[in-house]
Amino acid sequence: MKILISADMEGATGVTWPADVLPGTPQWERCRGLFTSDVNAAALGFFDGGADDVLINEAHWSMRNLLLERLDERVEMLTGRHKSLSMVEGVQHGDVDGVAFVGYHTGAGTEGVLAHTYLANSITGVWLNGTRASEGLLNAHVVAEYGVPVVLVTGDDLTCADAEGYAPGAQKVAVKDHVSRYAAVCRTPARTAADIRAAAKVAAGLAVRQDPVQGGPFTVELEFDAEHLAMAATVVPGAERTGERRVAYTSGTMYDGIRTFKAVTTIVSAAVEEQYG
Ligand SMILES: [Zn+2]
Repeated sequence: MKILISADMEGATGVTWPADVLPGTPQWERCRGLFTSDVNAAALGFFDGGADDVLINEAHWSMRNLLLERLDERVEMLTGRHKSLSMVEGVQHGDVDGVAFVGYHTGAGTEGVLAHTYLANSITGVWLNGTRASEGLLNAHVVAEYGVPVVLVTGDDLTCADAEGYAPGAQKVAVKDHVSRYAAVCRTPARTAADIRAAAKVAAGLAVRQDPVQGGPFTVELEFDAEHLAMAATVVPGAERTGERRVAYTSGTMYDGIRTFKAVTTIVSAAVEEQYG
């Protein structure tokens, strides 16, 4: 049995503040340890539950955050940027039986600690076929196309509630309770590691490959915080203006859908000016 852990940082233990997840800050240096603790606890739980292999895919910012030297010696870690499937890179090779979303968070424009969708700012909402979409929801559709179930989700309590919508059968662990976008009631790493490890052990039993799901076509609509960002996004083939600050595109598969999403966010990032956005 092989498990893929998609590891994002905003939903990690103790993390509530932008600097906590911003590479290079003293806070980030400290929070890397907390993040690594969550991911390692998940890996240990999956091994407890019978996994033979655990591949960890770094999914936050520069995708260089985890401390490899503190991980269980049985894991492998994919670190660094530029990957076909970004946050769920590795699922496409046909040998993964279950996926875990560790350190995930809620979507742009919704309640939740450090809520956003791919870009920290600029994107104020994402909808998939008319439904509000978080990174978890989008990536759940990607992995479903490969017949791989989402078996574990960790993050704040609202992330767990969001996951009930896209992975109702998955194990969920809330490592903190939302108070505001930048505040949470946090539990200690000793406690969250124990909770995550126990949940991952159960989740290993859910890691059974299924028939691939072809749920398309997928219409993805994005709303931005400035009009010119919508205009900039339309250089991506297929992205059409649907409102003053909105664009939408339609893809036959979520594989194409997530790749186009990446293209849109890359173009939009380049169009953001420091003071005016
Ligand atoms: Zn994220």
